[in-house]
Amino acid sequence: MVKFSFKNMPKPHKWTISVLTSALLVLVLIPSEPVSAYKNTPVPALEIGKRYDLAVDFDNLPLVEINAFDNAVERQIYKIKKGDNLAKIFSRAGLSPQETYRVSKVSKYSDQLLNLLPGESLGLEIDTDGQLQSLSYLYSPTETLIIEKNADNSFNGHIESKQVDTRINYAQGEIRSSFWNAGIKANLSEGQIMGLADIFGWDIDFALELRAGDSFSVMFEERYIDGEFIENGSIVAAQFVNHGQTYTAIRHTDGNFYTPEGRSLRKSFLRAPVNFKYISSSFNPNRFHPIQKRYKAHNGIDYAASRGTPVVAAGDGKVIKAGYDRFNGNHVFIQHGEKYTTKYIHFSKKVVKNGQKVKQGQVIGYVGSTGMAAGPHLHYEFLVDGVHRNPRTVALPIAEPIAKSEAIAFASISSQRMQQLNNSKRIMLAMN
Ligand SMILES: [Zn+2]
Repeated sequence: MVKFSFKNMPKPHKWTISVLTSALLVLVLIPSEPVSAYKNTPVPALEIGKRYDLAVDFDNLPLVEINAFDNAVERQIYKIKKGDNLAKIFSRAGLSPQETYRVSKVSKYSDQLLNLLPGESLGLEIDTDGQLQSLSYLYSPTETLIIEKNADNSFNGHIESKQVDTRINYAQGEIRSSFWNAGIKANLSEGQIMGLADIFGWDIDFALELRAGDSFSVMFEERYIDGEFIENGSIVAAQFVNHGQTYTAIRHTDGNFYTPEGRSLRKSFLRAPVNFKYISSSFNPNRFHPIQKRYKAHNGIDYAASRGTPVVAAGDGKVIKAGYDRFNGNHVFIQHGEKYTTKYIHFSKKVVKNGQKVKQGQVIGYVGSTGMAAGPHLHYEFLVDGVHRNPRTVALPIAEPIAKSEAIAFASISSQRMQQLNNSKRIMLAMN
């Protein structure tokens, strides 16, 4: 047996020798060229306590094999919590502030790391010396930021993107109890239900005008990655039948919706200044006549909603009055061009000032019961040339047609979508 003094050797040598010992054992067990070469070397008599050179070529040892002693890398996933930032997560991972600083300086890619959101996660690979080797951050369903350490210890970054497939799906429903329930029953998401109400919100008062038997059909995008559903995309076409009247919306490449003939669905006024989802009684088959009577009685429409429900400007305009009196309570009047005025009454709180310009859909106040009001509701009035009109039936300015330069492109999209809508309806009919 070869004997040598182990104790007095410098540490790197001990390591090398441990490896060599294992290597020698292997060499002895497996007869091969190097073994016979070693056997042929004459072995001198050895003395205890004396140092001998090993008959092994150190320079040609396969050092790659010694990886077990080298920097093993451990991959850890860190869940991002509320109030977390890169520095906090790095500190939890035992990484130094210097490391945080260096990673935060990896060109434009590091900007992604400024917006870490709770629930997301950060993958860190840290070697046995406690040094960061790589970082990965999935910041969108399709994109991962990768930051890796270079051989010279600097970091580099890049983005890995996944291919997204967009498919078109179709759903339809009929309103029995409420639009919301019909939407859920048709497997629409909450966002899609609200989206439909937004698309048709210039033509239909979703808060008060829906009836049993009203129906809708909708075509929408779905996004898939590797065959797996990721999220819904935009609604691309939709129809809503309200009181037997059919409204159709086709999405153009500009993201706006038009009628099949190319008229914008966006109009000067929303039919209702309150989102239907806040209206407790947004469906009541017997309500039509009583409301009509009440409308005549007091020149306005009442939207019963809980205190604090946001109320929006029905159209672009200028606040001509934002005040308080004992009849109207907190109220806001808005002038829209020369012809139109809208009035919003009984607010718990108004959030616009006299003379202020407002945009359609902008919150101007919150439902309350200030002034002469029995309970929380919005009293809404619509005046044309100073005369009260029913906002639900008044003829509104005709919407702008699509730009001439877009007309041909839109006509082709429109005819394709209409065909798809009708085909889908036919298939659903056949299935039922
Ligand atoms: Zn009223």
